[in-house]
Amino acid sequence: MNRRVITFHYTLRDPAGIVLDTSEGGAPITYLEGAGQIIDGLDEQLRSATTGTKTRVQVPAAKAYGERDPEQVQRVKRALLPVPDELHIGDTFQTGQDRADPVVTVVAIEGDDVLLDANHPLAGVDLTFDVEIMAERAATAEELRHGHAHGADGSHCG
Ligand code: ZN
Repeated sequence: MNRRVITFHYTLRDPAGIVLDTSEGGAPITYLEGAGQIIDGLDEQLRSATTGTKTRVQVPAAKAYGERDPEQVQRVKRALLPVPDELHIGDTFQTGQDRADPVVTVVAIEGDDVLLDANHPLAGVDLTFDVEIMAERAATAEELRHGHAHGADGSHCG
């Protein structure tokens, strides 16, 4: 089967119906099928979608950002954190210098200790996407080699 490059708009909601993210009012998302550019469960369920399709896609946590892992919660000394005197539950920190380093969230403050959670904020959350397919085309040989889409018109790498 030929892999496609698909361009779509989406609105993402949690199980309570709260909007977590949306592309409406901004640029739509363009991706290469089966390349890991969007979450697996959404990629799989859009394989039969064509231009103009409006659909609601339910993605269980396991096929989205994964289940929560209790071992990803660590206890550290408050004094080791960047601003030990001004910590609040819900604060987030980058764990290293690189933008790709994990982000941790303060989930509890207990005296001199702080509990930090390295799970993705959407781990354990079942997601609902309302999707509208704006365009589709066959992937180019170059896109297949690179393993990603080159924009809606196929001309941009990266
Ligand atoms: Zn490329």
